[in-house]
Amino acid sequence: MKSIEKLFRPAVQALEGYIPGEQPQDAGWTKLNTNENPFPPTPAVVAAMREAAESSLNKYPDPLVTSFRKAAAELFDVDPEWIIPGNGSDEILTILFRTFVDPHETIAFPYPSYVLYGTLAEIQGSKYKHLALNADWSLTREAIATAKQQKMVLIPNPNSPSGTVWTTEEILELVPEQGVLVHDEAYGDFRTESISRNLLDSDVGKQIIVTRTLSKSYSLAGIRFGFAVAHPEVIAGMRKVKDSYNCDAISIAAATAAIKDQQGMREHVETIRKTRQSLTASLAKLGFHVQPSQANFVWTTHPERSHAEIFEALKKRKILVRFMKFPNAGPELDQLVDGLRITIGTDEQIATLVNALQEIM
Ligand SMILES: *Cc1c(COP(=O)(O)O)cnc(C)c1O
Repeated sequence: MKSIEKLFRPAVQALEGYIPGEQPQDAGWTKLNTNENPFPPTPAVVAAMREAAESSLNKYPDPLVTSFRKAAAELFDVDPEWIIPGNGSDEILTILFRTFVDPHETIAFPYPSYVLYGTLAEIQGSKYKHLALNADWSLTREAIATAKQQKMVLIPNPNSPSGTVWTTEEILELVPEQGVLVHDEAYGDFRTESISRNLLDSDVGKQIIVTRTLSKSYSLAGIRFGFAVAHPEVIAGMRKVKDSYNCDAISIAAATAAIKDQQGMREHVETIRKTRQSLTASLAKLGFHVQPSQANFVWTTHPERSHAEIFEALKKRKILVRFMKFPNAGPELDQLVDGLRITIGTDEQIATLVNALQEIM
């Protein structure tokens, strides 16, 4: 057999593959490129993981992840039947594609936003459309009309890379006539006010799936845990599709302890918000434009300097931020959007970054 690639499904042959942010394996980096939390998980979480490691690893984990679902249900003030956990919210997104989207159907998401949505559509063999944005990252009229015709619409809110938010009213306008809307709240805990309740309680609440992750606000990117909140009829369909044991015993223990420790999470979120303010001020002093953000990162551009060059100069100093390029972003967003997305680190890390930028600029 000459080429195994020819045996791949056509959708896989055509795939470029999603490229995640760099994860350097050597020490000494100031890592501000993948929106991780700079703080460790709280002591209660580490203790729960240790206990799980010592007690139950010879047995399969609970396939329905009951302990976590109960805790999350309490937080969202719903019945546990409204919750489905997954191996990171990226897996929840995969489950949603496999539950709702057939190859001949189309999905849509704002552009620029989370690039993975397009990759997941391609893997599924389905088509995707971009929802065009205005220069202030609001949705165009045309985007709203397009959204209504899709099988699935995915909206990260707060959006990445911009950190901007859409209101309840704006989101409800995008719910497809014959489809579902995924409200990706990966950064929901950093937002001033949660809107998930408004969405789920609305007339079209049954067509809305809220997704959450423990990777960002709960400092648990290393264990892979996310979940969805949706009407029990939706959850029932997703359960049919998921692997039986999609969450492992250690991550279940960690996630359950983490979601019960709201105070621990909130303290870190507050610190990150304060640091975000001071970084925004420092960047503005250096002549950058900073998009007002409600997430744990900021999107920044400079009117004169090359973003690629700034990225490289920082990298030489072992500081990693995310240089992002979005070609064909439409007339409103100047066709080519590029810029730097900077994760909010500790005050120390941000001081290192600002000092370096002062030299570079
Ligand atoms: C980080 C992120 C995710 C993925 O979270 P995981 O739970 O780590 O898989 C999903 N959506 C958006 C918009 C993100 O930024």
